Amino acid sequence: MNLRRQISEQEKQEIIKRHTRDGILRCFVDNHPIENLEEVEYHHIRPFCEDGPTNLDNIAPVCKEHHRRIRTLSLIEFRDKMKLDRFFEEEYRKSDGVRLDDVFAYLVGESGYGKVVQWERLDRQIKLYWEGDEPEILPLYQCPVTGFEYFYALVPVKHLKNDTELQPRPLEPPRMWELYRHFLRYTQLAPAVCRLVDNQIMLFDGQHKTAAQIWAGRCRVECKVYLDPDKRVIKETVLAAHDKLRQMPFYTSTLISRYSSLFKEDWEEYMERPGTKSEKGFVQFLIKAKGVPKGEAMKRLRAAIENDILEDPENKLQEYIAEKNKSRKNPLTIYAVQQTFLKEFIAPPPLEVEFESTQDFRRQEKKNLIKLLNLIVDKTLSGRWNPEAKNEAHHTAERIYAAGALKAWVPMLRAVIAAKLNLVDDEEKNRVFFRQIDDETFASVIEPVVNRLFSHKIWLDPDPEIDANLRVNNVDHVKQFFKSRGLSAQWLLGIEDD
Ligand SMILES: [Zn+2]
Repeated sequence: MNLRRQISEQEKQEIIKRHTRDGILRCFVDNHPIENLEEVEYHHIRPFCEDGPTNLDNIAPVCKEHHRRIRTLSLIEFRDKMKLDRFFEEEYRKSDGVRLDDVFAYLVGESGYGKVVQWERLDRQIKLYWEGDEPEILPLYQCPVTGFEYFYALVPVKHLKNDTELQPRPLEPPRMWELYRHFLRYTQLAPAVCRLVDNQIMLFDGQHKTAAQIWAGRCRVECKVYLDPDKRVIKETVLAAHDKLRQMPFYTSTLISRYSSLFKEDWEEYMERPGTKSEKGFVQFLIKAKGVPKGEAMKRLRAAIENDILEDPENKLQEYIAEKNKSRKNPLTIYAVQQTFLKEFIAPPPLEVEFESTQDFRRQEKKNLIKLLNLIVDKTLSGRWNPEAKNEAHHTAERIYAAGALKAWVPMLRAVIAAKLNLVDDEEKNRVFFRQIDDETFASVIEPVVNRLFSHKIWLDPDPEIDANLRVNNVDHVKQFFKSRGLSAQWLLGIEDD
């Protein structure tokens, strides 16, 4: 958010002075030097609307580029988002996913976590000798069903470790980011769950909230810790709990709660029913058991799938959608995005495939589409869309996103990507992204198509007739016009030359 109150020249000088070390002024976001003082802008560290005080301690200098990208985040959130993105980018390259231990290692160092803790039993209590801290005596409880003993503690991060055997799943970046933002403002409701075995506290449930809270700066995490329980029984318990809550990854609570609480209740009720679960099954459940009209049921499902993509913090297109960024004139509306990118690249719901079965690629589809959208943003909008400047770059962007143009090139792009991925079957062509597409295929097959599309001469040609024709809100007209200027699926495929 921008500063609502103007700050005086004198105050600016004072802020610059405070953030200058060894003669170098640094951007608050990632500490890079700002050499040109004209590039300096000012932003609240804690947001104004959340009672962040408007005193000079709460204002920091930010470079123009970062300031533009902050949008509705507070400065601390934005800085941490950048850090989180970089972290996941680096870690992802190293292995097949990021785990809680990687977060620990990143934030507190390889030797800074997973330390053994000495402890002793005192009747119905446990005495814990935290490293570098006073010993702590806590009550021991017993589970009436299994007889397992456990205690509750605020466990220092240095004594925590991921329980790789019981929790092999990697962290999901969007979930961690959502929870991170949540924990900047709210308390932790349910504790994370661990087991204490051979002086080691291993966390097997609640890894996202733990990672998020540590990222948010907490150094202790609220935990329920079992005292060396029967591993086999715990394993079964975890499996049973997760089996019952199978809505986990794609249909996460974040997705459903965003849509409506009513929908969430219906969803949970459906998931608790016996039998295999699918989108189609859910729509039928809404119609038959809940009396929701078919059109409405379909609308709800589609909205949930679409919002999940539109609201994803990784999705850079958001910034250019009018309803999502009201601070300037934007090239797109939610409706236009639905009618083009979402319509073309999402396998039409409701699907019959069982959730989370090996045939369910909704998550990959989302990932693929966001990757494509971000690529398109980088090529056509980022640093180009600038309604005030009215320069050539902006003019090109306006052409690309003119109502008719968008409706014509997005389906063309989809068709060519389908061809390049060797999809021949009609059903497969309707779900180009509903599959695993690895980074290499993306870079070698899809990226060149996008590059070729936006390298076409039609986008730069000074002929004003082009603008008039691309604004015609009739897809057949624009397709014909494209063709008359040499832009066609054939050309995009590389079969025809310029
Ligand atoms: Zn900066």
